[in-house]
Amino acid sequence: MKYIILVLSAFFALNTVYPQDTSGVWFISEKNLMKTDTYLASKELKGRLSGSREYYKAAEFIASEFSKIGLKPLGNKNYFQNFKIEYNEITAPCKFALVENGKTIKNYELGKDFACRGFTGSGNFTAPVVFAGYGFSEEGYDDYAGLDVKGKVVMMFKQVPNWKNGDKNWNSSLRYRQDAAFKKGALGILFVSKPNDANPQKPIGSVMDGEGSYIESFPMLQIDISAADDFLKGSPYTLKELQTLIDSLKQPKPLELTTGAQLNINAIYEKERNTMNVVGMLEGETDEYIILGAHLDHVGGQADEIYYPGANDNASGSSAVLEIARTFVNSKIKPKRSIIFVLFSNEESGLNGANYFSENPPVPLEKVTAMLNMDCVGFGDSIHIGNGKSAPELWKITRGLDSLYTKQMVMHTWNGGGADATPFHQKGIPCLYFVTTNSYKHLHLPSDLPETLNRNLFEKITKLAYLTVLNVANGEYKRETVLP
Ligand SMILES: [Zn+2]
Repeated sequence: MKYIILVLSAFFALNTVYPQDTSGVWFISEKNLMKTDTYLASKELKGRLSGSREYYKAAEFIASEFSKIGLKPLGNKNYFQNFKIEYNEITAPCKFALVENGKTIKNYELGKDFACRGFTGSGNFTAPVVFAGYGFSEEGYDDYAGLDVKGKVVMMFKQVPNWKNGDKNWNSSLRYRQDAAFKKGALGILFVSKPNDANPQKPIGSVMDGEGSYIESFPMLQIDISAADDFLKGSPYTLKELQTLIDSLKQPKPLELTTGAQLNINAIYEKERNTMNVVGMLEGETDEYIILGAHLDHVGGQADEIYYPGANDNASGSSAVLEIARTFVNSKIKPKRSIIFVLFSNEESGLNGANYFSENPPVPLEKVTAMLNMDCVGFGDSIHIGNGKSAPELWKITRGLDSLYTKQMVMHTWNGGGADATPFHQKGIPCLYFVTTNSYKHLHLPSDLPETLNRNLFEKITKLAYLTVLNVANGEYKRETVLP
C-alpha cells in the first residue's frame, strides 16, 4: 500500500502541471514524435521534394496513419487533394570545380561548398568567370556595365542590396536575374551570400526561385563565400571588399576574373507535375471547423549524393499534426467543432499547397473558426507563437495555456500570417503560427537531422498546440475579426 501511494504521488507530482483528467495531453510523447520525424527525415524519403516519388511515399504514409486512426478523408476521393506544380529534380552527376590556366585546380563538395539552386538548368562546360555585383541591369544601376559576359559564368550576390536604386525596390526573384544574365549571353550563374551580413547564408537546398521562366541550358548554383574567394584569386579584391565597395558607393563594380569554372549539372524539369495535400477530419457536432496544418514537403536531394532531411523543416510540424490527431482519437474526446488536419505540399516553392487549399477548401471558409500552422517546431530553445497581433484573442488563449502548463512561450509575436498561415490570414481567418525560437541553425542544410532536435521542447510545443486546438474546439472562443 505504501508503495502504491508513493508511486501514485510521484505520478501526480509529475502530472500536476497538466490537466491530466480529461485533456488527453499525456498521450503526446517525444518518443512518438521522434519516431514519425525520424522516418520522414530518413534517407528513404530523400528530403520529400514535392512531386517526387519520395514525397508521394511520405503522403501515403500520412494517409495510412489518418486511416488507421479513423479520420474522415477530405481530399478529392481519398485523403489526397491533388494539384499541379512546377517540378525540378537535380540528378547525377553534379560537379563544380575551379579552373586556372586550363587546369582543374579544385573540386568542390556538393552540399558544403556549393548546392544547385532549385530550377537550375543543365550544362556541361568549362568557362571563364566574371563578377557582376548583384546581377542587376536596371535603369540607373548596371552591374554589367562594360562587362562582356558572353560565353561566361557570372558570379553575383544572392541577396539584393539593402539600399534602393533611387526610389525603386529591387526584384528579389532569382529568375529575374537569371533572365538578365541569360539575355546578355552568360552560360550560368554562381550565387554567393553577401559576406558582410551578420550570418551569411551557406549554400542551401532551395526550390524557391520566384516567378519567371525556366531555362533548360542555364545552370544556377549557390556557392560558399570561401569558394567565391578562390575565383577572385588574381583580382585585387576579396568578396568582402567588393561588397563594401559596392554598398558604400552604391555603384556597380564589374570585374573580369582570371579563373574559370567547370560545371557538370543535370536537372529534370516538368512544367506541370502532380502533388497533393493530405487532408483528414475528425468530425464534431457543430458546422464550424478548426484547421491544423503543417507542410510535409522539403527541398529533396541533389544528384543522389546528398539529401536534405528537414527533420526540423518540417518533419517536426508534420509529426506534431499527426500526433495531435492521434491524441484526439486516443483520448476519446469528442470535439464540438470539427478539426481538419492537413499536411500541405510545396510550401518550399512558395506556399502552393496552402494557397491551393485556401482557394479550394473542402469546407466553407466562413465556417472556419481558426487555423493553426506548425512549421519548424523541433529545434531551438523556447516557443514562439506568431501572428498574435492579427489574432490577439486566439493568441491570448495559447498564452494562457502556456503560462499554466508549458511555460516556454516568448512574448514577442507578429502580424500578417507567416508561411502556410498567410493565405488563411488573408482570407480573414484567425491564425496562429507555432514555431520554436532560434529554430533555423540547420535550415535547408544536410545537417537538419533528427538527432539535432530539442525533444523536450518538441513535445512541449506539440502539447501546447493540442491544448489550444482542444480549447478552441470545445471552449468559448468565437471567430474574431482579424487585424491586418
Ligand atoms: Zn523550408
